[in-house]
Amino acid sequence: MKKASKQRPKEESRQYMPMQSSEGLGKRKIGIMGGTFDPVHYGHLVAAEEAYFSLGLSEVIFVPTGDSFHKEDLPVSQVEHRYNMTMLATLDNPHFRLSRIEIDRKAPSHTVDTLREMRHWFSPNGVCFHFITGLDAVLNIASWKEPEAIADLGKIVAVSRPGYNPQILDHLPDEIKQSLIPLEIPLLAISSTAIRNRVREGKSIRYLVPWPVEHYIYKSNLYYRNGW
Ligand code: ATP
Ligand code: MG
Repeated sequence: MKKASKQRPKEESRQYMPMQSSEGLGKRKIGIMGGTFDPVHYGHLVAAEEAYFSLGLSEVIFVPTGDSFHKEDLPVSQVEHRYNMTMLATLDNPHFRLSRIEIDRKAPSHTVDTLREMRHWFSPNGVCFHFITGLDAVLNIASWKEPEAIADLGKIVAVSRPGYNPQILDHLPDEIKQSLIPLEIPLLAISSTAIRNRVREGKSIRYLVPWPVEHYIYKSNLYYRNGW
């Protein structure tokens, strides 16, 4: 009797094919998943995976924000910790990649600068970026640096997130709406804030983050000492 192969299924053997759209045809569709990732969790990973398959992306690049970034004036864990956790979480997915572009930039990071810089990694006019962002974040996009330029550089994929009604997208400026792709994903009521709180309170974070990330958090003593 022939032994069952122990090899992992190849990329081509995925069960369903990505949706094709005429827009951006001939261009590589690159997903960009930006975030603080403090820590990265299954909400981020599901959003990236769902965008990859539903929109027929070539790959999704995770882009952790740099150290100069301070979220609403709250301290953020050291960038190398956030980078390492994102590395651990994305390692086993062949179409996820990780970039240090914002980490290595000394100045504060703006999405538009990152996309402009990344454009040079690909052949001229050969790429259509798909910037993946949750409904909570997309709401603020009008206040980011040069939002119209972000919309010009590709698509803004607005993924569903518990607690946010997709109808809020109607209120975005027209220049942004033109580039918007609303995308329903399996809803996971997980946030990094809740995970940090749970660690501080001694609650389990199992099944909220990939296990290597959970171990990394404990081993590095993250979210205990700073009192936030
Ligand atoms: P924090 O609570 O610290 O703000 P977060 O969970 O919102 O963390 P971020 O790093 O701020 O994570 O988010 C990066 C991107 O991922 C944002 O576009 C955000 O909207 C999206 N995102 C985060 N969590 C989810 C989730 N559970 N479902 C869908 N999108 C999410
Ligand atoms: Mg957030």
